[in-house]
Amino acid sequence: MHPELMRQYLEYYRDLGIASLYRRSAPVTPLATPEPQAAESASESLDAIRADIGDCRRCRLHEQRNKIVFGDGNPQTKLVFVGEGPGADEDAQGIPFVGRAGQLLTQMIENTAKREGIPLERKDVYICNVVKCRPPGNRTPEPDEMETCGQFLSRQIEAIRPKAICALGATAVKALLNTKEGVTRMRGNWYKWRDIPVMVTYHPSYLLRAYNQAAKREAWEDLKAVLHYVYD
Ligand code: SF4
Repeated sequence: MHPELMRQYLEYYRDLGIASLYRRSAPVTPLATPEPQAAESASESLDAIRADIGDCRRCRLHEQRNKIVFGDGNPQTKLVFVGEGPGADEDAQGIPFVGRAGQLLTQMIENTAKREGIPLERKDVYICNVVKCRPPGNRTPEPDEMETCGQFLSRQIEAIRPKAICALGATAVKALLNTKEGVTRMRGNWYKWRDIPVMVTYHPSYLLRAYNQAAKREAWEDLKAVLHYVYD
């Protein structure tokens, strides 16, 4: 592991105060929610959605992309993570959340699960973004780009029919919940996308910034809540 990344991880766990986490165990109670139904046989597969995207040029984000970043993980999962869009590493590899922020997300998922006694690895969840092509310079996707590409996100979620969604950051929140409310106010709470519960938390790239110490602790709590809701 790159020394800088290792330092970030160590700082992250130090900041969280790992020892105290075991004592702070009150679970967040989700909204009373009917269990999502199993996928209907008529629903389309992720492969069919990817095939429909093809060599997509439906919005201007196709102009500078290298690879379309569709999604990664288990199509039968109970938990879907939604981020904003690909960065440079993702654009090069065609896989979501593989850069620094992605590695932090992977560590957060796997370490939180391990510490909470939940047998879960990154490959067991599904991870995707609101837009499938990298916005130039990592800018925030424009509303029309989110709308055009958002149809694929909706179809992916309908194909998977997870028990819960974890929305990572403001763009995912806007796309899924159609609100301009800030993530800081919304995080840690449950909302709904159609009939599927949505937990809002910070995007891991935000957590990589050194000044976000409190946010790291909050993200840890959010992730614990969503993992217990889905897997208990
Ligand atoms: S971002 Fe989405 S809609 Fe736009 S070109 Fe890429 S795949 Fe197509």
